[in-house]
Amino acid sequence: MGPLPPRGPFRSPFIWILLLFTALFWVQQYWITRNTVQIPYSEFKKAVSEGRIKSVHIAGEHITGEFVPPPAPPEPETPQVPPSGAERFVPEAIRDFKARVPDRFSTVRLPEDEQLVPLLDKHGVVYEGELSTTWFSQIFSLLALILITFAIGSFFVRRMFAGGGPGASILSFGRSRARMAAEHEVKVTFDDVAGIDEAKAELREVVDFLKNPDRYTRLGAKIPKGILLTGAPGTGKTLLARAVAGEAAVPFFSLSGSEFVEMFVGVGAARVRDLFAQAHKAAPCIVFVDEIDSMGGKRGLNPIGGADEREQTLNQLLAEMDGFEPNSGVILLAATNRPDVLDPALRRPGRFDRTIMIDGPDINGREAILRVHVRKVKLAPEVNLRSLAGRTPGFVGADLANLVNEAALAAARRSREQVSNEDFETALDRITTGLERKGRVMNRREKELVAHHEAGHALVAASLPGADPVHKVSIIPRSIGALGFTQQQPTEDRYLLTRQELETRLAVLLGGRTAEEVVFGDVSTGAADDLARATQLARAMVMRFGMSEKLGPLSYEQERNPFLGLTQKGEYGEKAADLIDAEAQAIVAKARETAREILLRRKDRLLALSVRLLEKEHLEGPELEALLAASEPVPLVAAGKP
Ligand code: ADP
Ligand code: MG
Ligand code: ZN
Repeated sequence: MGPLPPRGPFRSPFIWILLLFTALFWVQQYWITRNTVQIPYSEFKKAVSEGRIKSVHIAGEHITGEFVPPPAPPEPETPQVPPSGAERFVPEAIRDFKARVPDRFSTVRLPEDEQLVPLLDKHGVVYEGELSTTWFSQIFSLLALILITFAIGSFFVRRMFAGGGPGASILSFGRSRARMAAEHEVKVTFDDVAGIDEAKAELREVVDFLKNPDRYTRLGAKIPKGILLTGAPGTGKTLLARAVAGEAAVPFFSLSGSEFVEMFVGVGAARVRDLFAQAHKAAPCIVFVDEIDSMGGKRGLNPIGGADEREQTLNQLLAEMDGFEPNSGVILLAATNRPDVLDPALRRPGRFDRTIMIDGPDINGREAILRVHVRKVKLAPEVNLRSLAGRTPGFVGADLANLVNEAALAAARRSREQVSNEDFETALDRITTGLERKGRVMNRREKELVAHHEAGHALVAASLPGADPVHKVSIIPRSIGALGFTQQQPTEDRYLLTRQELETRLAVLLGGRTAEEVVFGDVSTGAADDLARATQLARAMVMRFGMSEKLGPLSYEQERNPFLGLTQKGEYGEKAADLIDAEAQAIVAKARETAREILLRRKDRLLALSVRLLEKEHLEGPELEALLAASEPVPLVAAGKP
C-alpha cells in the first residue's frame, strides 16, 4: 500500500483551479480597494458640491469613485482631516505619505435619494451605472469562502483521524514515514542467503506457515508470533528477514527501531499502532523491526524516572503483540546485535519467544557467501573462492559482499574484462587494513593463540572423567566479546554436583590459559572471563559448600538479600577471611596443575587439534571426537587426588 491517495474534495484538479481563481479574485480586490476610503454618504455629497469628486461608479446601492487629484503643493485632501496650521510644518516625508493616501472612495447611497444624479450633473462629475453585477461577485466570493472553509476543515479532520481512530495521531506525526509502506514484491530469496544454514532452516517453517496456514491451523498448532534474529552487524539478519518475505511472497513491512524514537512523546507509540493497523489489513505479511534494541532496551533505566518516549513506544509494541492472535498471519521479525540489552518483557512467551542466533560464517559458509556474490560479476576462471574464504577469517556476509564489490571495482579501474586474483588481492588489502582497525578481524598470531586456548579447554574436558562431553569448538569471533568458545553438552540434567565434578569444571576453565602457557610460554588477556568464573566457583566451594578441609563445613555466607540483590558478608573474623582467600587459591592452583599435567602429557594432541581448528575454525561431531580421542588410554591424572 502506497501513500494514501488524497481523499475528499482534493481529489479533483477542478477544485484546485477554483481555489486559484478565488485567490486571484481576492488579490485583485485588494489592489482595487487599497487606496480607497469609506466615507459617509453625507461627506460624499459634500465633496461633490465642493468639486472634489472626479468620477463616480454606481452599482446599485454601492457607490465608488475617484477624488480629484490633489494640487501640486499638497492640500488637505480628505474631508475628515480639516486643515490646521500645524500642517504646514510637517516634514517632507510625512507630507509625501499623506499625498499618497486615498485617491478613491466608496460609500453607500441612501435608497430614496433622487437628487444624486442632478447633483452630479451640476458639478460635472463623470458617472456611470452597473447592471447589478454585484450579486454575482458577492455570491462568487461567498461560494469561495465556503469552499475554502470546507477544504481546510476536511484537511484537518482527515489528519486527526488518520491511523487507528480519533486522537491516534494529530497531524502527520503519527503516520510513520514512507518506508512503512509495505514492499509487495520482495525479490530476495533464500538462494541469496548463504552460510547461515541453521538460521535458514528455522525460518523455512515460517515461510511454510505463511504459504499454507491451513496445514497448521487445522492441527491447532501455533506458529510463533515473534522471532528475534541476533548476530553481529553484517551477518545477514536484514537480508534473511527479507528473504522470508520473498520466499513466502507476502508483503514486507520494515522499519528500524531508531525511527520510533522521536522528539515528541507519544509519537512512537502512535506509529507502532499505525503499523500494526496496516499490517493486519495486509495479512498474511511480515513486519520487520530492525535494530529493536534502540527501542526495546531495558525499561526503567531512565535516571529521571517516569515513562520516557522510548518506554512508551516499547509498551505500545508489547500491547500490540499481546493483542494479535497467534495465527493471524502477521509474523513479527526483529533483529538486534545487542540481545543483552533487550527488555526481558520482549522475550516472554507470546512475544519474541524464539531467538535465532546468526553466527559469523565458518570457512565453508564464507565460500558459499562468496559464491552468491560473484554471481553478479564476471569472474576469471583461475579465482579460487575456497582459498579466498580461507584467508578471510572473521569476515561476515557484508564484508564478503564488499570484498567482491571492491574486487570488481579494482578490475574496472584497470579496465579488465574479468575480475582476477590480483583484483581480489587489492581488495583484500584495502578491506583488511580498514577492518583491523575495527578490531573484528584477528591477525594470524591472535588466531593461533585463540586456537590453542580453545583446544586446551576441549582437551582438558575430554581427558577428565565426569566432564561433560565436548560438543563444539570454534574460533570464529562472537558478536559479544568472546573470540572463540568450547561448548560442552551435559548428557543429563544435573541438580547436584560433587566436589570432584566441581574440580573438573575448574580444571576445564583453566585449560585455556594453561594451554597458552604450555605452548607459547606466555599468557594473554583472553582468559579473563575464564578466571573470573573459576574464582567465583572456587570461593563458592569454600564459603557456601563447605568443601575446604581447613575451614570445615561451615557457611561463610549469609542469605542473599532479595531486595538489595547482594550477598551479604557473613559473620566471620579476619583470620577466617584470610583463610578463605588462601583456600580458594589452593583449589584453583590444584585445578591448574591438573590441566597442566593433561596438556603436557597430550601436547601432541593439543597441537594437532589447534592446527585443525585453525584450518576449519569450527569443529564438531565425529571429526572432533576423533581428534580428542586418546591414542593411549587416559590415566586418571591428578583429578580426585587430594
Ligand atoms: P545485518 O542486518 O545482519 O547487519 P545485512 O543483512 O544488512 O546484515 O547484510 C548486509 C549485506 O551483506 C547484505 O545485503 C548482503 O549483500 C550481504 N550479506 C550478509 N550476510 C549474507 C549472507 N549470509 N549471504 C549472502 N550475503 C550476505
Ligand atoms: Mg541490518
Ligand atoms: Zn577460555
